[in-house]
Amino acid sequence: MAKILIVEDELNLNQILQDYLHHFGYQTVSAVTGAEALSFWKEEKPDLILLDLNLPDMDGLDIMREIRRIDTVPIVIVTARDAEIERLIGLELGSDDYISKPFSPREVVARIKAVLRRVGQPIAPSTILRLGNLQMDLRGHTASLNGVELELTPAEYEILAQFMTEPDRAFTRLELLEATQGGGYEGYERTIDIHIKNLRQKLKAIDPENNAIQTVFGIGYRAMRKG
Ligand code: CA
Repeated sequence: MAKILIVEDELNLNQILQDYLHHFGYQTVSAVTGAEALSFWKEEKPDLILLDLNLPDMDGLDIMREIRRIDTVPIVIVTARDAEIERLIGLELGSDDYISKPFSPREVVARIKAVLRRVGQPIAPSTILRLGNLQMDLRGHTASLNGVELELTPAEYEILAQFMTEPDRAFTRLELLEATQGGGYEGYERTIDIHIKNLRQKLKAIDPENNAIQTVFGIGYRAMRKG
């Protein structure tokens, strides 16, 4: 099981990343300052470091330089500015990938998985999500209900994957919108209602009794274990 050091001072985001990585079978260590990042890097020997560049006490680039002097551990940079990423690529400081904020946690998991695969570290074992009679194979990018494959649009696929990653959790339309757009915000939350409607129709076409996706009044939607 790969161990990921999350360096992120936004507590909420740090927690979301921890939850997602745990769900996908990773172990995590969480740092909220540069000083913590360096001490956990030494003590915990993570398999990969997810490094936010804007930290309260240190510049993320200095942390990366410090680590790179003696360690080739994969580092995935997280930053809020695209322009900064271009500058970083120019500097060739030796990070393994870059993620710009805002991002979807699923995107982060996918990037981490890709980097670990590249460097030959163990990959999280499970890419199969199950919820009731619904099943998704994230590696094969397929979804099925009662063993019958669902023909989903990319947006519907991402929405369903969100629900199945965290069963019972109510998602806001904005969260679902982020999932479909890889972190972008262009678009209107009501488009989610249309995706949900189509997704429900596809589930009902296979199983007319299926009621897996429920409306949460005033919030958004969720998928229940008992649908
Ligand atoms: Ca930050």
